[in-house]
Amino acid sequence: MTLSGLDIYKLLPKTNCKDCGFPTCLAFAMQLAKKAVSIDKCPHVSPAVKAQLEAASAPPIRQVSLGSEDAAVIAGNETVLFRHEEKFRNPTGIGFIIDDSESDEAIEKKVKRINALVFERIGQTLGAGLIAVRQTRDAQRFCAAVKLVAVKTKLAPVLMTGDAAAATEALALLKGRRPLVWGVNLSNAAAMAGPAKEHGAALAVCGKDLEELSACTQELNRLGVQDIVLDVAAGGERGRIWELTQIRRLALKKSVRSLGYPTIAVVDRTDPYEESLEAATYILKYGSIVLLRGTEPWQALSLLTLRQNIFTDPQKPLQIEPNVYPIGQAGKDSPVLVTTNFSLSYYTVVGEVEASKVPSYVISVDTEGMSVLTAWAAEKFTPEKISESLAKFSVGELVKQKRLIIPGYVAVMSGDLEEQSGWKIVVGPKEAAGIPSFLKNLQ
Ligand code: SF4
Repeated sequence: MTLSGLDIYKLLPKTNCKDCGFPTCLAFAMQLAKKAVSIDKCPHVSPAVKAQLEAASAPPIRQVSLGSEDAAVIAGNETVLFRHEEKFRNPTGIGFIIDDSESDEAIEKKVKRINALVFERIGQTLGAGLIAVRQTRDAQRFCAAVKLVAVKTKLAPVLMTGDAAAATEALALLKGRRPLVWGVNLSNAAAMAGPAKEHGAALAVCGKDLEELSACTQELNRLGVQDIVLDVAAGGERGRIWELTQIRRLALKKSVRSLGYPTIAVVDRTDPYEESLEAATYILKYGSIVLLRGTEPWQALSLLTLRQNIFTDPQKPLQIEPNVYPIGQAGKDSPVLVTTNFSLSYYTVVGEVEASKVPSYVISVDTEGMSVLTAWAAEKFTPEKISESLAKFSVGELVKQKRLIIPGYVAVMSGDLEEQSGWKIVVGPKEAAGIPSFLKNLQ
């Protein structure tokens, strides 16, 4: 439960000694309520009060970090049910499952394929975050497969085993990698807790319903484990969506601490289309980590694209710095195109200019991240703004011929723009897809 400034004040010593750097206990309490300072600044609170305040200030959904520092997957710490309330914070970690029954050669091939699932989209690099090894044989084969995977990838490791002995042996092979052990329940929690703490691993608890999960997380807490992930596998996809939603709702709205953890959904289908659809569903609601088997590039790209769209701030469109950008070996004879600084618009134009192989300049006008037509309707992409950008970025000094290509959708502004900027205006294609042929035929 979140405490107000006054609630916190009642727990402080009320001596106004100023040792915390604030003039009064009340002033300090107000800052604590805003989470602007730490309770550690007051040396006079009792351990019991300190524990109470720390518990009250903990996020409703714990943040769990997996993987090495340079390839970390951060899960949890979400604060809202809907993205129009506030941005979702940590994008769903997408991972791929390898069974230890596969041959060493097949495993190596698959890891290589997963490592290569990296895509550039609107200025961001997208890729898988985790690789899971699933135990289907004995502990020896499982550990051999884990070792093989660990040396071939930097991705965060997931050990899919309910066998505490096998997990313990495999964890020793993953020093500094902050793995996740999936397959913990009430019957093996005690055996899993010790090795997890020793090796800095998180534990994914599996239960048929929320009561079972809740009992298991409380048991793990009692055993000193805090980094927990929840997997509820009840009632097929429909049941799972329901339970994932309940977990988010209970953690955020009812402050149910035993369910205040990130979630994981394991998708195990042989049909890649069905598998991708199910994985997409859990990205939408409310999987912190999604594991699947299929490693087709189209599967990864579609899921990563969906994730990128869901985990952007709907109130702040992705923007790029307004400026003039050379594409290819642009020089004095290169054409100049103009678009907005909405990332999707800019990178779509740039992608087509690159495809044309005609070195060009592209100007991104500051439209506060709006696309061409929206910005034009909102009077953010106007002859005045474009003329200002031409002058501000000294575009006239970059080329011999003052000729500017504008998007076909705003052809209506060409007369005014020509008058205000002094540049010759050429109306380009309406759709970016028309840019390559347009540039190739430009005289
Ligand atoms: Fe109050 Fe503690 Fe700050 Fe002293 S150090 S003023 S007791 S909050």
